[in-house]
Amino acid sequence: MAKDITKTSKSDAEWKAELTPEQYRVMRQAGTEAPFSGAYDQSWEAGVYHCAGCGHALFDSESKFNAGCGWPSFHSELDEANIVQRPDFAHGMTRIELLCRNCDAHLGHIFPDGPPPTGMRYCINSVSLEFRPADAPGGDEAPTESE
Ligand SMILES: [Zn+2]
Repeated sequence: MAKDITKTSKSDAEWKAELTPEQYRVMRQAGTEAPFSGAYDQSWEAGVYHCAGCGHALFDSESKFNAGCGWPSFHSELDEANIVQRPDFAHGMTRIELLCRNCDAHLGHIFPDGPPPTGMRYCINSVSLEFRPADAPGGDEAPTESE
């Protein structure tokens, strides 16, 4: 894997100014939104879910399924998403944390109890996501690069 991809790199203060308090708590401090509270938990529109921090495309709505756990769940990530998986031993559990490849935002966790074809469940916080409907004008344009 190439290490010289352009990453979104911001200071803690910059993230704090840019994100909502809830987004900051989840995305930068590995928090978790309350189950069944998120905007995308029961959202089934066609489109693509992007990272709310940097706009990096993460999941297609076709891979979304109703896991009944209270958070948006996906069985697959987009090939280009290249989501980072990192062991997380917080709260006395061993889980795999998911992080945005581009801006290191905490997205959620992945569990091996999902449906076919992967058998995986990407359990993602709604506040870490930004949904872009498939039929939105300019929906396919590249995200604006930030310095
Ligand atoms: Zn990101």
